[in-house]
Amino acid sequence: MRVSYQAPFAVATALAALAVLWPSRRHRQPSDFALALVLAVSSAQFLAKSLLAHQITTGPNVQSYILSTYAHFSQTAAAVLSLLLGIVLLVVVTGEMLASTRASLQRDELSGLWNRGAFLERARAALAEKNGGQACVILSDLDRFKTINDRYGHAAGDEVIAAFGACLQSSATLGICGRLGGEEFGVFKHDSSPARARVFVEKVRLALQQSSFALVQGRVTASFGIAFVAPNEPLEFALRRADTALYRAKAEGRDSFRFAEPPRNDPQFCEPSVGGGIA
Ligand code: GH3
Ligand code: MG
Ligand code: MG
Repeated sequence: MRVSYQAPFAVATALAALAVLWPSRRHRQPSDFALALVLAVSSAQFLAKSLLAHQITTGPNVQSYILSTYAHFSQTAAAVLSLLLGIVLLVVVTGEMLASTRASLQRDELSGLWNRGAFLERARAALAEKNGGQACVILSDLDRFKTINDRYGHAAGDEVIAAFGACLQSSATLGICGRLGGEEFGVFKHDSSPARARVFVEKVRLALQQSSFALVQGRVTASFGIAFVAPNEPLEFALRRADTALYRAKAEGRDSFRFAEPPRNDPQFCEPSVGGGIA
């Protein structure tokens, strides 16, 4: 009788432990392993109880069962494991809530890209990890965006920012894309080359050109500044050079891109200082 009573609990908790450890895309935390362990121990406990039930006699009625050593250990084990399960579940749920709140705080709501802080944090980390290839930063800024706002309203401007965010994200599958503020965006690529950076920018420009807007008529364009990060150069320095290149693209006609000058004391980064586009 006690076998059929305990066995379903043993099976259910074993399945729950398996479900927690089942391969998924989610990155597992130590608390997930703790949860699986508590569930596995619970399952073993139910199994042990159902096996012991054959060998141990606990008397003819409920009262003798309650006074038996078996009941003492059985009830204590169940209470301790239930308490442990509750605590570990609380840790898992709280951890997931914190992780999802953190992720949403790092996203820019309008463009769907990383916000400035998260972009810089991720780009710095990627730069520190980079082994081999050339890292580059690409800054972009929508052209005459104020005119779009003035002519079609701020909702139209917001629509353009969202669309441009999507253009960047879809073109930079392996890059880190962020909205740095207003209508200015940044992309970090950890392994690029002048030719690849050029192809990337052309891809974004084409995607923007092909975007259709509900609230804006006419063509929307953007300008770009590209800087390759020199060995040991801090990210901020490269961003400053990219910004200067972006302003050159603006000054020289917009809807185009420019490569940044190499850092003054580092002649090995000598991309052409003038890039293509419709300058
Ligand atoms: P340029 O070609 O030189 O970049 O000119 P611009 O008009 O794009 O640049 P400017 O800096 O003069 O204008 C940027 C405008 O972007 C001003 C600001 O009101 C607007 N803006 C900033 N953030 C947002 C936003 O989140 N939504 C909308 N709709 N507008 C924004
Ligand atoms: Mg602008
Ligand atoms: Mg701007």
